[in-house]
Amino acid sequence: MRYQVLRPPYCYRWAVLISIVLVTVSLIISLSWAGAEGTPAGSQPPSAQPVQAAPGPQAPAAPAHAPVRTTARQGRFVALTFDDGPDPAYTPQILDLLAQHGAVATFCMVGTQVRRHPELVAQVVRRGMRLCDHTVSHDEQLARRNEARISADITGAQADLRLAADGDVAVPYFRAPGGNWSETITTIASRAGMTPLGWSVDSRDWTLPGAPAIVATVEQAVQPGAVILLHDGGGQRGQTVDALAELLPWLVGQGYQFDFPAT
Ligand SMILES: [Zn+2]
Repeated sequence: MRYQVLRPPYCYRWAVLISIVLVTVSLIISLSWAGAEGTPAGSQPPSAQPVQAAPGPQAPAAPAHAPVRTTARQGRFVALTFDDGPDPAYTPQILDLLAQHGAVATFCMVGTQVRRHPELVAQVVRRGMRLCDHTVSHDEQLARRNEARISADITGAQADLRLAADGDVAVPYFRAPGGNWSETITTIASRAGMTPLGWSVDSRDWTLPGAPAIVATVEQAVQPGAVILLHDGGGQRGQTVDALAELLPWLVGQGYQFDFPAT
């Protein structure tokens, strides 16, 4: 009688113990599944933390990064870049020279010039060249302006370029006027989907030193992976055109191939 009275509580305790064990085991299994979904096989090591770096609804689309100063491909490549155009006198001459030597280049265009000569933007794209946003106003003190002004100057020129090239064109790069960068500038450019573009070789053609001096500067400084700064607008660029006519065959003779900057 006493034995039968004691039996139900013992059974109950065992049932509770088994339930606790089952719940604990199922919790551990479900937690390990959740962890597996967060880090799929073949993903980056934990230190990269790609999931946490992903943008939230109000977060910037991309982190800012330092201006690129190398070609996309490694090896004996150079990237030619032409700033401050498009210019009706010089841009077509430069396009012809590039075509004669099988070269590609990147054109960093100013919004005010783009609005005056949209047909030149379309021509640059048709010839297989790449576009680079160089702001609407070419304000070399852009880094000192407030964020709204910086954003308007950068995204305004991007819109000008897209409009001039019938909308369906990439603007993969942004270059700050005068190469005067700030964290705000690189952040806004990156957020707009453009790679901040620097240079590694300044031809100093903008000082109008004469074509032979421009040629000598580039020949002395160039090395594999170089991004070369030249100008097709913003002033008299006859020296740049003359220098390019010498530099292109020289570069080819040195075994260089032409590439775009890294993105
Ligand atoms: Zn410029």
